[in-house]
Amino acid sequence: MNIYNSLTRKIEKFTPNEEKTVRMYTCGPTVYHYAHIGNLRTYIFEDILEKGLEYLGYDVLRVMNVTDVGHLENDSDDGEDKMQKSAEREKKSAYEIADFYEREFFTDCAKLNIRKPSVVERATKHIDTYIEMIQRLLQTGYAYESNGNIYFDVTKSNNYYQLSGKNPDELYVGVRETVEEDKSKRNPGDFGLWFTVSKFANQEMKWDSPWGVGYPGWHIECSGISYKYLGEYLDIHCGGVDNIFPHHTNEIAQSEAFLGHKWCNYWVHGEHLNDSTGKMSKSKGDFLTVNLLEEKGYNPLAYRYFCLNSHYRNQLVFSYDALEGAQNAYNKLRQKIKQLDRTPDLHESKIDYYKDKFKEAISNDLNTSSMITVVYDVIKDEELTDFTKLYLIEDFDKVLSLGLIEEEKSINEDTETMILKKIEERNIAKKNKDYETADKIREELFDKGIRLIDGRDKTTYEII
Ligand code: AMP
Ligand code: ZN
Repeated sequence: MNIYNSLTRKIEKFTPNEEKTVRMYTCGPTVYHYAHIGNLRTYIFEDILEKGLEYLGYDVLRVMNVTDVGHLENDSDDGEDKMQKSAEREKKSAYEIADFYEREFFTDCAKLNIRKPSVVERATKHIDTYIEMIQRLLQTGYAYESNGNIYFDVTKSNNYYQLSGKNPDELYVGVRETVEEDKSKRNPGDFGLWFTVSKFANQEMKWDSPWGVGYPGWHIECSGISYKYLGEYLDIHCGGVDNIFPHHTNEIAQSEAFLGHKWCNYWVHGEHLNDSTGKMSKSKGDFLTVNLLEEKGYNPLAYRYFCLNSHYRNQLVFSYDALEGAQNAYNKLRQKIKQLDRTPDLHESKIDYYKDKFKEAISNDLNTSSMITVVYDVIKDEELTDFTKLYLIEDFDKVLSLGLIEEEKSINEDTETMILKKIEERNIAKKNKDYETADKIREELFDKGIRLIDGRDKTTYEII
């Protein structure tokens, strides 16, 4: 496979550290609000990259964090924690906010056929790992304590500017203009690893540490979770382009300082989805969500189709007209597939030819629109039997995940009995105030594609 590497700014041949296994890390959502469809464009791209690699024969071990602490409202170390701010807005605890929006996020993902990564870990579950890393960074002189906080000294890092390709003056100009300089830092670019002193006193999520009660900075979680679950060498790290600086730049600096060697070989970034006014944001209040698209009558998979028709490295402008066009094309495609004759009659002669074409499109820097073109080519090919066409489309849809071969979402009697039994067990657990068991049952069902809906009198469910 050839893929664009942001680190070298070149399309490179992809060679993982181990022959068959790919270790992949993707930055997860900050669960302080719903994800907007821009965020979800990035997760669609990562999903298809993972599935594309699998199609090419790799086993992908993919890890994702869920940011439930420490993501400040702007990229400097100033401002309030986004989780804390939402907790205050919604009059809930930060943990309740995280639980709710994490569930909503994975519901959106399920609607978009985005598979849950093999490992998903909350930032707040790995405080020990961050403390261990920070201790080593202090011992080796990469980090320093100042006024109660621990900072990473960016001047100690050899390749600090490699990923962004920018010089310090370009990078810090915005920071200097908008944010009061933090006098505790040695250099303006230094970033927080652990805070015990912050400008806001009401931070709810706090932990004990060798430096006092406090909370981690918002970059260390990805280095920590990746180290814990994927080890010292990473093949691919993904995120949206906005993550290049400061987040990924800082991840590289602290991980490589901690490990003492190069950490990740390929950095792959998805371009943004913008609306007609420019950058999409969830802090602005009014933003586009999967729920909103559904309310307006759009199929979430038509949005996935819309995204896959453009390359992940190109900016994409969202408009309802464009989505309407994508939905029409998507519906027509599904209609054509529905009309194919399902009588078993498989002709092998051109199967490899089309599979190779599909692999070529994946290998060409994840060219998703070419992948879709192969589907259309198969449908048009008069030499193929309908059954062979269906066979190939089903195979390609393992990667595209556009629901091209329709299956009714239905459950059998046994499954229904199992769900009702689990709901009953959960009701008993809740009655006994055993919320841990209740949550566990909810997660267990969710992972099976069953979402519980707690009504005033009873709990119902939906298949996602
Ligand atoms: P967040 O939940 O804010 O941490 O962002 C989750 C992911 O969405 C990150 O990988 C971001 O890089 C990405 N992202 C943020 N805004 C956009 C956008 N407008 N289009 C595509 N991806 C985005
Ligand atoms: Zn990250």
